[in-house]
Order: sequence, then structure tokens, then C-alpha cells
Amino acid sequence: MLTTNPFDDDKLKEECAVFGIWGTKDAAAHTALGLHAQQHRGQEACGIVCNNGDEFNAHRALGQVGDVFGDHRVMERLEGKAAIGHTRYSTTGEPNLRNVQPVYADFAFGGLALAHNGNLTNAISLRNELVQTGSIFQSTTDTEVLIHLIATSKGKVRDRLITALRLIEGAYSVVLLTRKKLIGVRDPRGVRPLVLGKLGDAYMFASETVALDIIGAEFIREVEPGEMITVDENGLTSEFPLDKTDSRFCIFEYVYFSRPDSIIEGRSVYDARKHIGKELAMEFPVEADVVIPIPDSGVPSALGYAEESGIPFELGIIRNHYIGRTFIEPTDEIRHLGVKLKHNANRGHIEGKRVVLVDDSIVRGTTSRKIVEMVRDAGAKEVHMRISSPPTSHSCFYGVDTPERKSLLASSNTIEQMRELIGADSLAFVTMDGMYRAMGEDSRNNEAPQYCDACFSGDYPIALVDKENKGTGQQLTNLREQRR
Ligand code: AMP
Repeated sequence: MLTTNPFDDDKLKEECAVFGIWGTKDAAAHTALGLHAQQHRGQEACGIVCNNGDEFNAHRALGQVGDVFGDHRVMERLEGKAAIGHTRYSTTGEPNLRNVQPVYADFAFGGLALAHNGNLTNAISLRNELVQTGSIFQSTTDTEVLIHLIATSKGKVRDRLITALRLIEGAYSVVLLTRKKLIGVRDPRGVRPLVLGKLGDAYMFASETVALDIIGAEFIREVEPGEMITVDENGLTSEFPLDKTDSRFCIFEYVYFSRPDSIIEGRSVYDARKHIGKELAMEFPVEADVVIPIPDSGVPSALGYAEESGIPFELGIIRNHYIGRTFIEPTDEIRHLGVKLKHNANRGHIEGKRVVLVDDSIVRGTTSRKIVEMVRDAGAKEVHMRISSPPTSHSCFYGVDTPERKSLLASSNTIEQMRELIGADSLAFVTMDGMYRAMGEDSRNNEAPQYCDACFSGDYPIALVDKENKGTGQQLTNLREQRR
């Protein structure tokens, strides 16, 4: 059974970071650093494939970047002037080495490695048809579908890639490496991020600008939605091989997923979060003595809330940094335990006070419930929960891990019911308009929303082909006919 089906309960969904560099010695070491800076996008596994002008070498393993690539014996094998890398995070299902990217394949024209951040929404349909026509899959990732589409297309690498891109649907930021070139490409909606940087004569792609910072590279620009940039011995070439459409960058990257010190679309993620916190304070003020963030994700928006409301900000909850994200734990019981391991009340700043707790989102409600209880146990007089995003009521099918819809607290509860469930005295979420205002947009009503906000609105800008199809049908055949 294909466990990547995002519509299965037993799903294996991915959040990821990519990195690719061309034209520097120690390309793999640069890639390892680039991945390290993007570790927050995926902690389960990582991999690097590099090329030394002749042969490819790869290392992939379960674990975090520092552990996997901190071993000099591994790095010594990865020599060459070009490399791509990937970090990956999945929630349920077996952590499986065969799913670790970059994927690599030998073609008639030579080797090709590919790494992907995002989620293809017609991967199951395409895969079923590819299997019927003789393709043999080694992994359960949607990324391998792309490799097979390249394999079954004709022409040079560039042409094959374009043919493949025309057949896939979904959110993707992809880096691809052959002996002769490095390619970075972003889906036409630009849902997931991808930036271009430069260090000396070397060019690189990364999911976030923090990966450029760590190696001292200069940020050149974002790869635009639908853009394909090729780097080779002649320098850079940019083209837009796919049909143009309105871009819809993922607003959840600003809310939670990206690092606060990253810059996206010229805007600091930290500032965006702070602005949302200010909007939240304007929309849902409350009489209180202290504003406390749920660390780390709630910190910038809590600062904004405190600044706007004039209520003092304190680190009333301290986070233990030596454990992973609680989300990684598969069962509710472990998740409960995980939250306790992760946070502790800083009693002196809570006792006898009316507390405003700020977090970026409520998903299943586990974190909020535990923290509200913890803050009450520490002697808070009142606990007011403020969330710097609208209620997360819909699953993401574009590459941010969210549980299936029925596990989302906001999918089946009113705000008042949620307040009761988490045990707060009051609960409020920034409105959709407030969030868009904070992003510098007048309102989201402008006929076309500027972001993908499907997790809050249920408005999915890219067709959920597999969901509608249940993974069957003549997808590939029809698409090949239409898009020939
Ligand atoms: P929950 O405890 O299920 O309500 O999850 C909410 C917490 O998880 C918040 O503190 C968020 O910062 C964090 N969070 C939200 N979305 C994600 C995600 N996709 N992956 C990991 N953590 C998340």
C-alpha cells in the first residue's frame, strides 16, 4: 500500500527543506550547513548527493543533520563542486530509509538527483498508472513519481523535466542535480519557498534565507512561482515553462513554519509574526497583568501583543530545548507526556496574575490544554488564550504536516467549545482579515487571496486530484494527451 497517500489515516506526510549548490569546492559541507540552518523544517532524516564532475556520491540517514553529517568520514566521501540536500520530517508510519531524499537515478544521459519540498496532489494517480505501465518504485515518496516521469519522457534533461512538471499537480520547490547542471524550480502557485543565493562564483538554492546566512552567502532573489532556474558552466538561465497563474504562497510559513530570522518576499518572518500579534491585541484586547508566549512559536506574536496592549511581556513559560517537537510523537498519551517534558511554568511571573497566553496556532489542542493547566497550577488568577492565526480547521495537502481533518480541534468545535476544552477563561483567534492586514494587505476580500490559506479557509488553490479520484483513473494518459 502506498503510505504517502495524504488521504489515508496511516499517512506519511512530509515537511522538508531543500538546498543545492553549484560551483564551489566542499559543496557537500556547504550543503550540510545549509540543511543544518533549516533543521526546523524536518528532523527525521536527511541526505546529500554530490557530484565531483564525474561520479555521484550520496549519504542518507535517519537522524538530524549534525549527527548524520558531523562525521568527517562521511564528509570525506562527499567531495565535489556540486551538491543537493534535503531534510525531512514525517509524523506517522515507519521512518524508512528508502524514503529519504535526495532520490537518485541513473539514466541513459547519466545520473540525476532530485530533492523536493511540498506535496504532489496527483502523485497517487500518476503512480498507479506508472506502475501499470511497468515503472518499478523503490520508495513511497511522491518525489519518486517525478523521477519516473522524467525517465519516461523524451529529450534532454531540461525538456524531460518540463514534460514531467506539466504532468504533476501540487506544491513543490525542487532542486535537481546532474553532472552538468543544477536546476531549481517552484510550482506555478509558489506555495513553498525557494530562494537563490551566491557565494563567490557559486550559486545556490535554499528553502529559506537562513541557509544562505549560515554560509555567508548573498541573497539574490526568490525563485519566482513557476520559474525554473538552471545553473551550469555558462551561469544562470531563467525560464517560465509552465502556464502562468496567480501565486499563492503559504501563509502558514509566516505564521509558524519558517524560521523567524528568514526573509520571505522581502518581509521578515519575525516582523510579520509581531504584526499579527498587534492585530490580535487590537481585535481581542483583554484586561490582564502579563503577556506570556508559548515558546518558541508564540514569542514574536506575544511581543506584538504586549507592545500593542501595553501589558508587560514575561517569559512565564520556559522551554526545554533538548527534546524534539512534540508533534513527532504518534500517540496522544505520548504527546501529553511530551508537552510536559517540553515546557515548565516560571512561577514567579504567573502567581496571582491575570495571564494572556499567546501561541501561533491550535492544532489538536494538546499544547494549549496542557499549558493552560500548567499556568493555573502555577497560581494564575485568570488565563486568556490568544492565537495568532485563525482557527486551523482544514488539513494541508501541500506539504505542511497537519493531522487529518477530524483531529483538528477547530474542525468540529466552536470557539466557545474550544475555550471550554482547553480550560481557558477566554479564547480568541486573530481573524482572517486581521492576519491579512498584518501582512500588509487591506483585506483578503480582494477577489484573489494573495496567499494559500487553505488550512484556515478550506479554499484549496491547487486541485486535490488524488482526493477526488481516490488515486484511480486515467490521470496520466489524459494529461499526456492534453498537454502534449
Ligand atoms: P496542538 O498541541 O496539536 O494544538 O498543536 C499546536 C502547537 O503545535 C502549537 O504550539 C504550534 O506552534 C505547533 N504546530 C502547529 N502546526 C504545526 C506543524 N505543522 N508541525 C509541528 N508543530 C506545529
